[in-house]
Amino acid sequence: MFREMRRKRQKLAKEKCDDILYRGTSGVLALHGDDGYPYAVPISYVYTGKKLWFHSAKAGHKIDAVLRDAKASFCVIDQDRIMPEEYTTYFRSVIAFGTIRILEDEAEKRTAIEQLAVKYAPDDSEENRSRAIEQEWKPLCMLEMEIEHLSGKQAIELV
Ligand SMILES: Cc1cc2nc3c(=O)[nH]c(=O)nc-3n(C[C@H](O)[C@H](O)[C@H](O)COP(=O)(O)OP(=O)(O)OC[C@H]3O[C@@H](n4cnc5c(N)ncnc54)[C@H](O)[C@@H]3O)c2cc1C
Repeated sequence: MFREMRRKRQKLAKEKCDDILYRGTSGVLALHGDDGYPYAVPISYVYTGKKLWFHSAKAGHKIDAVLRDAKASFCVIDQDRIMPEEYTTYFRSVIAFGTIRILEDEAEKRTAIEQLAVKYAPDDSEENRSRAIEQEWKPLCMLEMEIEHLSGKQAIELV
């Protein structure tokens, strides 16, 4: 059911898609929003190689959308190098499609937030990290997106 890329030469190999997801610092999570309007919301994330983890408040448009429909896509732009003289951009991006669930299990939730914390504050001490997690624990909601389809594409000029 997932589509093939029409311009196959521009398609990125799985390892390149992984590289982009590992090094990216944010992406846009596209959800089934209110009244038929897609809700595309920017968000930080951590990639495990199979799954994406996000942190969120327990209420809001994003959570309502996930509860309405667990299917989502997540886009990370790796590069957008504008080439004015060519009227184009030398882009590179990935899109992951998958299903989101809210992590209810405490151990799963803790693993996910710890990995997210390590990604964004790799030099912090374990003690500081644990303290920060404890402080945010109550209102914290962790989301897991199981990736079902991953595609990556780059500008023809980068091929
Ligand atoms: C680079 C980046 C990283 C971020 N990382 C995280 C993260 O890891 N976790 C997290 O929870 N949030 C993150 N945010 C904030 C995130 O985009 C949302 O604002 C936040 O998650 C609240 O979403 P909500 O649907 O619950 O908000 P609600 O307040 O329920 O949204 C209500 C309405 O506010 C508007 N709105 C909400 N967010 C935005 C926005 N970012 N820009 C413009 N309009 C908006 C929309 O119209 C939406 O319908 C990040 C934002 C950026 C730009």
